Amino acid sequence: MVCPKCHQDRAHRAHRKGIKEGLAGLFSRFPYRCHECSHRFLVYRYAPPVQTGPLTAAERDIVSTRLSMKRKRTRRVFLLYSSALLLFLVFLYYITRERTPQSD
Ligand SMILES: [Zn+2]
Repeated sequence: MVCPKCHQDRAHRAHRKGIKEGLAGLFSRFPYRCHECSHRFLVYRYAPPVQTGPLTAAERDIVSTRLSMKRKRTRRVFLLYSSALLLFLVFLYYITRERTPQSD
């Protein structure tokens, strides 16, 4: 990881310190500490890696494969949650229907 202060590739994951970094963990931010200048900074967990130079064909392949896998995973998670929600609503509907008195 490149340090934003001294621009050396010497920053590594650090343990969370204090309430600020503890709260940042809830928002997928990890603390990093630079071994060169001891600067601490937070990095978003899902941030794309810093690009250094143009991509080769193989790198482009990897990036596109990763993207399609990510999209598939997102679609799968969305389907799972929406079907769970639908099931819950159906369940709720049958529960509330049984409790209402019959009117015939
Ligand atoms: Zn540094």
